[in-house]
Amino acid sequence: MLKAFRPLLSFLKATRPADSLFHPFSKSPYAAVRARAEAIRKLAPCPVCATDHAHIHAHTKAQPKAVQFECPDCGWPTHCSQIHWNDDPEHHKYCPRLREANEDEHDLRSGRPMHEFELPGPQGYEETVSLTNWDLFWYTRGFPSMDTERSRRHATKLLTYPITIGGALHQHSGLTLRNQRLTPEGSRSLAALRSTLHVPPGAPDTDEASVGKPQVRLFILGARAESSLPPHVWEQLTMLFPSTHFHLFFIGPQVSLPKSSGNTVPQSQKSGPEEDSPTASSGLNETDENPTYLPNVYQPPTPKPIERLKRTRSSLEKYGVPSYTVPYTPQLTITGMQANYTEVHAQFQHTLDPYSDAFFFFSPGFGFPSPDSFAENGEPLLQIASPTEWGPVLPMLLASKCPIFVTGFSPTDVERDVRSLSTAPEVAGEFEWVITPGPNNFGSEKWEVADFDPRVMVKTNWGIWAIRGKSRDLQEQKSLFSSLPSLL
Ligand SMILES: [Zn+2]
Ligand SMILES: [Zn+2]
Repeated sequence: MLKAFRPLLSFLKATRPADSLFHPFSKSPYAAVRARAEAIRKLAPCPVCATDHAHIHAHTKAQPKAVQFECPDCGWPTHCSQIHWNDDPEHHKYCPRLREANEDEHDLRSGRPMHEFELPGPQGYEETVSLTNWDLFWYTRGFPSMDTERSRRHATKLLTYPITIGGALHQHSGLTLRNQRLTPEGSRSLAALRSTLHVPPGAPDTDEASVGKPQVRLFILGARAESSLPPHVWEQLTMLFPSTHFHLFFIGPQVSLPKSSGNTVPQSQKSGPEEDSPTASSGLNETDENPTYLPNVYQPPTPKPIERLKRTRSSLEKYGVPSYTVPYTPQLTITGMQANYTEVHAQFQHTLDPYSDAFFFFSPGFGFPSPDSFAENGEPLLQIASPTEWGPVLPMLLASKCPIFVTGFSPTDVERDVRSLSTAPEVAGEFEWVITPGPNNFGSEKWEVADFDPRVMVKTNWGIWAIRGKSRDLQEQKSLFSSLPSLL
């Protein structure tokens, strides 16, 4: 049911001339932005030097110079010099997006009230939420209206992880048989999960209906930024399913763990790649304006440690790896494990159930070459087949028959990962499609700029697809789904 009135926030919203948000990065009032400019100046090659053959002497292999010159229009370091900036016929293609990203960065830090980050409370059970697209989702969930493109970009970036999951799993998903994003096999697979996520038609979808229902476990593998999202943002996922108790598991070597509290260093902080995170040991001293900036070179850096909540406890003893669990609300428990999934699979293997469990990979880089593992001919293995990355993991997940959802940050990224499926032993020929590859209605609308080349811009969770292990045994398939009609 659509609400008749919208909040009048748009009327009250302070208008701020965009000009006051624009600063050349090196002159930004914020140390973190200046530090980023410094990092880009060291990493990114000048695109004109890189393509200009005219002045290169044949006997010297001229290295492109680093980007020292800041474009006055977008404020990013983009070229080695003003001359090469002037000579570049391509920069106008990137400049408006870079300008937008510049203003977004400064807007976020401006201290203005961020009404787009005000999240609504629980859904009234007579209200129907739509997961067709961001606008209908915001409208039917009673968000403040997102009246500028900038507000949309901020809000979609904040919410993309939980609502991508909600948008795929919910019975009112925009991924349907009708638009051919859902396959018939996928429809059966999701019907199994939805029988746990929702209540039978006509019954009120309230927390009272959760009695006797199994927990829904979502395993988010290779988690990075999503593991450091505040729990109240993840709570937005649970509000789409009022009668479901979720247990989120963030599992991966770059999972963010709680910061240490006072003098006691929890066991869970004593190992793991924290040396990558300059703020990990500084405890309470850190601020958002820490001038150290970790470049997002080939994979995003490990996020900062998360806030320690009152009920956060170490799970080291339970899972045998650096980990924590927080029972955040009666509907939401979060566990984070700083480990490879192969280290903990044995603890879940025998209880994985397609009626209550699902896996999510956010931009896993299946089709990227492994930095550590090589074939006999010396070529790097693709990460999907590499023993140090996803090689052993996908066959384990396919065996569970639980759906496996994967996102990518651009059409090319999605295609690269999907193509890699056909090259991976124990994956090729062993899966069926649940959701066909294509755009994700709940991707972030904000451009993420690569520090190693500001011309490279992507959008978090741009696309989505899903697979599950093939059911060869008809008997098995029958027993898996035979109880469905009675449940639906
Ligand atoms: Zn140059
Ligand atoms: Zn520019």
